[in-house]
Amino acid sequence: SAAGAAMKGALRYHSVTVSEVMTPLINVFMLSADERLGFDVVAKIFKTGYSRIPVYEVSKSNIVGLLFVKDLIFLDPEDEIPVKNFTHIFGRGLHFVWADDNLGDVLKLLKSGRSHMAVVQDVNQGDGRDPFYEVKGIITLEDILELIIGDEIIDE
Ligand code: ADP
Repeated sequence: SAAGAAMKGALRYHSVTVSEVMTPLINVFMLSADERLGFDVVAKIFKTGYSRIPVYEVSKSNIVGLLFVKDLIFLDPEDEIPVKNFTHIFGRGLHFVWADDNLGDVLKLLKSGRSHMAVVQDVNQGDGRDPFYEVKGIITLEDILELIIGDEIIDE
């Protein structure tokens, strides 16, 4: 039954890892902190339909905060204000998780925060060099719910 299948999905997500359901970095729509919120950029943001946009400095693997698209109601694109002025900095709700964390823990974390989005990182062992942290993508509550509901659809 659908209810039974959803129940199975709901139980299974505990052992599934973040990397299996995250949105990989290459598919994440981000903005540079230095970019200016003129007409073109704002139009591009609205076109994506996303409600939260990760903001990076220097390179896309250095995410420094989030831009909430709803904040742009107050924006006049003629002012060409830099993205950084609209960026919510970490500590106010953005989390980091590991690519191999299981979804049970991440669900708990995402429910406790306010942004409902986490940055996924992993340790890159390098080749002979010192290991370093690498951003792999993002994960939201939606990605976890999709796993649970997707199981139900496949089972039918
Ligand atoms: P939204 O509220 O913006 O639609 P959701 O949390 O509902 O975002 O997530 C829907 C899907 O979009 C998820 O797979 C999530 O990983 C992905 N997602 C969310 N924000 C972005 C973004 N800025 N760039 C790329 N993918 C995103």
